[in-house]
Amino acid sequence: MTYPIWDLWDGTGRLRELRSLRQSQYLDSDRLRQLQLERLRAIVSYAHRNCRFYRERWAKVPRLDRLDDLRQIPIVEKADVGAHVDDLISSEFKSESLVAAKTGGSTGVALRVYFDEPTQKARNAAAMRTDGWAGWRPGSMIAGLWGTPPVPVTLKEKIRNTFHDRLIFLDTMRLDEASMTQFAATMRRLEPEMLFGHAHSLFIFAQFLQQRGIPVPRVDGIISTSMMLIDSERKVIESVFGSPVTNRYGCEEVGLIGSECEVHRGMHLNSEHVFVEFIREDGEPAQPGEEGRIVVTDLMNRGMPLIRYAVGDMGVPSARRCECGRGLPLMERLTGRTADFLKRRDGSRVAGISLVEKTLTAIPGLGQLQIVQEKLDEFVLNLVPSPEYTEHAGRELEGVLRTEFGEDVRIHLNKVERLTQERNAKYRFSICKV
Ligand SMILES: [Zn+2]
Repeated sequence: MTYPIWDLWDGTGRLRELRSLRQSQYLDSDRLRQLQLERLRAIVSYAHRNCRFYRERWAKVPRLDRLDDLRQIPIVEKADVGAHVDDLISSEFKSESLVAAKTGGSTGVALRVYFDEPTQKARNAAAMRTDGWAGWRPGSMIAGLWGTPPVPVTLKEKIRNTFHDRLIFLDTMRLDEASMTQFAATMRRLEPEMLFGHAHSLFIFAQFLQQRGIPVPRVDGIISTSMMLIDSERKVIESVFGSPVTNRYGCEEVGLIGSECEVHRGMHLNSEHVFVEFIREDGEPAQPGEEGRIVVTDLMNRGMPLIRYAVGDMGVPSARRCECGRGLPLMERLTGRTADFLKRRDGSRVAGISLVEKTLTAIPGLGQLQIVQEKLDEFVLNLVPSPEYTEHAGRELEGVLRTEFGEDVRIHLNKVERLTQERNAKYRFSICKV
C-alpha cells in the first residue's frame, strides 16, 4: 500500500510512534500513569530550563513525586499564551524552525502556537491510531468535508498529512445544492471507505441527501471532529451513511486530546501525549461524573511547551473501564466551550449546547438551533425550522428559555435558512456575549 513509501519520504518517526502507541494503549492504568509521570517530569524540567515564561512564573523546578503534584503549578490561560508566545518558545529553537499553527479565535483570542517536527509526527501517529479505531485501513479513500480556512497550513494538506492517502474533498464553506449533489455523485463513483469532517457539516450533508432521497454508498467509518457533536445530528449522519460516528476531540495547541473507540461510550484520552486534568470552579479536581475545565499538559512538544494549559473547554472525567480492553482512561463527555456557557442572573451557568440538544429532541419542528445570549436578559434564537414546524413550536422554544433564564427575558426568534459559519468553517450552537 502507500504506507512504506510515505514513511521513507517522511522519515521513520511517525510509523515507529504508531507501532508504539498501538501497544501502549493496552497497558494497564498503573503503567500508563507511570509513563505519564516520567514524561511530565521531563517536560516540566525542560520547560524550566529553556523557557523564560516558566522560569519567571515558577520559583524553582516543581518536584513531581506523583501526578497530583502537578497541581502546585499555576494554570496557563489562553491570554498568557497570547501575551507571551516568544517567552514560551524554547531557547533551543527558533520559531522559523518550528511548525506554526493558528487557532480560530472565535472566542476573541486568536493564538499563534508552535511545535517541533517530532511532535508533529507523534500527533499524526496519534490521529492514525484513532483513525484505525474508526475503521480506517491503509489505502482507504477518505471523503473529507472541510472548510478552507485562512491559515497558512491548509487543512486539506493537513488531512492529507494525517491520512497520507487518497482523498476527495467537499469545501464546507460552499455547501450548496450544486456542490452537495455533485459530491454525492463523486462518492457513488469512487466509493470512499471513510467520511471525515466537522460534526455539523456532516449533518448538513446527511440531511440534504435524506431530504432529497439521493443515494450514497455505505462507508466503513465516519470521523467527526473539531466541534460538538449533537446527539440528534449524530443519528441522522449514522442513518444516512450506514456507519457509526467516531467522535474525536482536540485542538491546534496540543493536538489530539481524546477519541471514541469502537464501543462509542465516552472518549479515550490520548494519554501517551497529553496529561489531562478536569478542574472544578473552586479549583479542586472534578470527580468522575462531575464537570470541570479541561487543563492539558503536552507531554511531547519541546518547541513550545504547554504545561497546565486551559484549552477553553469543559468536560466530565470518567472512572469507567472501557469494554474494548484499552487501558487509556475515558472522558465521559465534552460539555462545551467555557466561553459558550450561558449565564443566569443568579450567576449560575448553563451549558448552551445541552440546552440546544435537549430542545431539538423535545420539540418537533426545530431543525437546527443556535442560542445567542446578547445580555443577561436578552437572547437571539437562530432557528432552522424543519417541515413540521408550527408557531406553537416557536412558543414552546421560548418557554424553555424563560424557564431557564426568567419569565421576563427578551427573546428574538429568527427563522433562518441555515446557521452562520465561523471564519474557520465551524459552527457554534451557543454563543454567550455577556
Ligand atoms: Zn474503548
